[in-house]
Amino acid sequence: MTMGNYNLVVVAGAGGFIGGNLISTLRTQGHKRIRGVDIKPLEEWYQRFDDVENLSLDLNLRENCEMASKDAYEVYNLAANMGGMGFIERNKALCMLSVLINTHMLQAALKYGVKRFFYSSSACVYNGDKQKAFEAPSLKEADAYPALAEDGYGWEKLFSERMCRHFHEDFGLYTRVARFHNVYGPWGTWYGGREKAPAAICRKVIEAKVSSKHEIDIWGSGNQTRSFMFIEDCIKGINLIMNSEVLEPINLGSSEAVTINQLVDIVEEIAGIKLRRTYDLSAPKGVNGRNSDNTLIKKYLNWEPNTTLRIGLEKTYRWIYDQYVARERGEAGVIRESAAAR
Ligand code: NAD
Repeated sequence: MTMGNYNLVVVAGAGGFIGGNLISTLRTQGHKRIRGVDIKPLEEWYQRFDDVENLSLDLNLRENCEMASKDAYEVYNLAANMGGMGFIERNKALCMLSVLINTHMLQAALKYGVKRFFYSSSACVYNGDKQKAFEAPSLKEADAYPALAEDGYGWEKLFSERMCRHFHEDFGLYTRVARFHNVYGPWGTWYGGREKAPAAICRKVIEAKVSSKHEIDIWGSGNQTRSFMFIEDCIKGINLIMNSEVLEPINLGSSEAVTINQLVDIVEEIAGIKLRRTYDLSAPKGVNGRNSDNTLIKKYLNWEPNTTLRIGLEKTYRWIYDQYVARERGEAGVIRESAAAR
């Protein structure tokens, strides 16, 4: 991703799902100098590599962002306090506080002359009024304005992506911004309250299968539509966007929309069972419909995320199943165990 493989690449949020997978890919691409930074203690990182400089730092603090960014050629800022709908609906102030991370990371990038800066925004920036229909309206980049983002988390993302734009326009910093649409895959959060729909549904189906209690509870009516992007497509997209001339925030998501019920159908098929469904209409469920309009990414990059949901879910289900079994056996905690599996 850089001109030479000896330039220092920094990944903020390295202990998380996308950050860990990004570092894993950067290593296989031959990058020799990588620094990963996350607020979590090292033993809780989902993936951790011995040949990477791993730092446990709170990036809300400016001095820590400076320590993280010093000597960096490229910075990927994936650090944020976030989770699925259950988390972001109940923790709006916490989500908004991620503005401290983004502000200080941008300032530090400027101070240390970072050559390229990537920021991960979200489909949650889109205007809520455009997502009321269940038939998955495809959101194009212009639909973020007039602004009516997801309360808390989405407003922070919209503000921070705008700040990237002005750091570029006013200070000449090279910034690239992608709006991720629901990312899923191995090495992601799959239990504990921050997991998103694909991981939560895989886990629930596994629990039902293992316990022989063939029931599943679904948040909302199950008719909400979404698209889900497999992690490998996400990492490829980050790479392409970082190296592109695309200055505006751009969608990075799959355009294969499904209802939550269809998502459950696929996971049931993979597991080879059929479950009795109950619907929790009072649970957090987010907007009714959302899909990624990929006109721009196809135009600029001649590519769009293309792993089918079926293929991506098979890999994800298998990974969560292994994690679940290890956890049931009481093996030292899944996250710690994953961190050790380098
Ligand atoms: P994640 O929660 O697995 O990773 C985020 C990491 O940031 C965590 O490891 C967390 O400990 C770290 N972090 C939080 N506060 C920090 C702080 N003060 N200092 C240092 N590190 C801190 O989430 P993810 O799915 O890997 O998401 C990565 C980025 O992509 C986030 O910015 C997120 O908002 C964005 N995004 C993700 C999705 C998705 O579906 N996963 C969708 C849209 C946008």
